[in-house]
Amino acid sequence: MKLIFIGPPGSGKGTQAKRLAGRFGIPHISTGDMLREAIADGTELGKEAAPIMAAGALVSDDLMIGIIRDRLAKSDASHGFILDGFPRTVVQAEKLDGIVGNGTEPLRVLQLLVPDDAIVRRISLRRTCSQCGAIYHLENNPPAAGGVCDRCGAAVVARADDTEEAVRKRLEAFHRQTLPVAAFYKTKSLLREVDGVGPVDEVFERIEKSLA
Ligand SMILES: [Zn+2]
Repeated sequence: MKLIFIGPPGSGKGTQAKRLAGRFGIPHISTGDMLREAIADGTELGKEAAPIMAAGALVSDDLMIGIIRDRLAKSDASHGFILDGFPRTVVQAEKLDGIVGNGTEPLRVLQLLVPDDAIVRRISLRRTCSQCGAIYHLENNPPAAGGVCDRCGAAVVARADDTEEAVRKRLEAFHRQTLPVAAFYKTKSLLREVDGVGPVDEVFERIEKSLA
């Protein structure tokens, strides 16, 4: 299973990707996580990427392609992978074809569809523990004792970047970048679209059906 997983920030894509990775026994390759780890570890790549990410800019196509090429060459990715956060541009998508296009297993592309308003609503109800980072949702998963964390008792707060304005900005950027990539795969008849609204288990079932 060689899967590219596309979905807006806050759509639950990361959770679903992790489950899929477990179900199929293949690595979940999140470029966001890889970049954050590289920066935390102070690797060459991290040193290159840190100032770019700190400025809120996008890491260049060449750098991203190098990261992905190295990652896909590792043995755990030889039977398949789930790519999360890549490709983000059509140039990256074309280069990826050159890296994985020759295998027997065809590339699959799954796009999780969640309307912007649903994401804004979900994230504006999200609360995070100021101490341990536990995540709550005021409707679906509220802390048992009101404004304090179930695990550690610290205050549970809304993250500064979880405001409606910030979320809408992230979504705009996502749509601007992703539409051409989704269109690229659509013309190749590789794109599968899945309704991403609803409980995690239901969405996961839809994803499994779509990949069957
Ligand atoms: Zn806590």
